[in-house]
Amino acid sequence: MFSHNRRKLLQASGAILAAGAMSSPLRAQTAAPRVVVIGGGFAGATVAKYVRLWNPKIQVTLIEPNPNHVSCILSNLVMTGALGMTDITLRYDNLRTKYGVNIVADRAVAIDPVGRKVSTQNGSQIAYDKLVLAPGIDFDAVPGLDSAVLPHAWQAGPQTLALKAQLQAVPSGGSFVMSIPLAPYRCPPGPYERACLLADSLLRNRRAGKVIVLDANPDVVAEAHTFHTAFSTTYAGVIEYHPSTEVTSVDWANKTINTNWGPIRADAANIIPRQKAGKLVAAAGLLGSAPGARWASVNPLSYESTLVPNVHVIGDSQGTGQPKSGHMANAQAKVCADALVRYFAGEAPDPAPMTNSACYSPITSKTASWLTVVFGYDAASGLMKPVPNTLAEAPTPTSGHYEDMFGWAKNLFADSFS
Ligand SMILES: Cc1cc2nc3c(=O)[nH]c(=O)nc-3n(C[C@H](O)[C@H](O)[C@H](O)COP(=O)(O)OP(=O)(O)OC[C@H]3O[C@@H](n4cnc5c(N)ncnc54)[C@H](O)[C@@H]3O)c2cc1C
Repeated sequence: MFSHNRRKLLQASGAILAAGAMSSPLRAQTAAPRVVVIGGGFAGATVAKYVRLWNPKIQVTLIEPNPNHVSCILSNLVMTGALGMTDITLRYDNLRTKYGVNIVADRAVAIDPVGRKVSTQNGSQIAYDKLVLAPGIDFDAVPGLDSAVLPHAWQAGPQTLALKAQLQAVPSGGSFVMSIPLAPYRCPPGPYERACLLADSLLRNRRAGKVIVLDANPDVVAEAHTFHTAFSTTYAGVIEYHPSTEVTSVDWANKTINTNWGPIRADAANIIPRQKAGKLVAAAGLLGSAPGARWASVNPLSYESTLVPNVHVIGDSQGTGQPKSGHMANAQAKVCADALVRYFAGEAPDPAPMTNSACYSPITSKTASWLTVVFGYDAASGLMKPVPNTLAEAPTPTSGHYEDMFGWAKNLFADSFS
């Protein structure tokens, strides 16, 4: 005879088996469900926080090797000296103390999707029921480029300060060469913003020579009107913009950047290599099946991998075609957190999730522009698509937008880390 409790347990496990149609069933129902998150950037910190906020019965472990997160957002202002590193350094304390996230200071090195375990560099094995990967980006190698010598600074931290030192060392009238990789890459307007701020900084310090922008793309990827106007008016004679120009190799001993149209001499350089999902994503077999796939193939209802069950990928590593921004990483993390909470309650994910992205770009030391878009789930195609009439950008850079940028960033930082 079934006891009342046992019947309830079986009913519950039936519900979970139904939910398991999106992946495989849970282990013993009595134990607290375990979510493990790899990577504590905007995506990973937000998903860890919101799973705990929405269901404190779920155990959440965040694996991250760094003691703090250094935000790429606003990091170009550290390069110019307008902000300091403390302004972009975000602590993990609140995730631990306010939300009860278990933080493991370690690097994940391998995933066992059958045994549902993560192995770490320090030799730990961390078991999960659901795993969320949020490891950000990795870079293609550029022949001759050593990013310890020529920092890309497309991951903030020590490289941000190394780039600042490069900028300060440009001789009067010297040339600063920077490159922009083929899209998709992290933060569509970010490299153009950097070009503007390099030029602004050289002009303000009366050292203006040239900022030579080598863009692998056929045209400016985001806010084309704003950046073309800035290049041809505000920075006329300082910024030289070259579309469809790829860096093929670097010979820094001779201060030379080689491109598909020939070599260029530079006094300083910022080569931003082509990007792909964080290393662990490829190692775990989560890339799409198309040849040369660079990003994780996921179902945007839950961000669960289409290839490996119970593994979700969010933030810059995912390949849904949505922009790679911190704002978007935060939005995807909440969709994923909601899907996980529903999964453990035996429910299907929200069938119509929406996300949005916003990027503020300083154009000078006093003005900024912005770009925003909303995405919605399109059930017919199974894709996230821009919602009509939501793609918008600042008509012109203003000081008001520059001020708003700090309020926006403060809110995003707090929503993700506090
Ligand atoms: C100059 C610049 C300006 C930008 N401006 C904007 C903006 O205005 N608006 C905006 O929304 N976005 C902006 N972005 C983009 C934004 O910074 C990224 O989209 C965002 O950081 C992506 O978040 P993420 O969590 O996916 O990755 P990340 O922030 O890179 O976090 C990944 C984390 O994973 C950790 N990690 C990696 N591998 C492992 C592992 N094996 N084990 C454990 N941990 C691991 C890393 O240490 C890191 O902490 C900008 C970017 C740049 C470069």
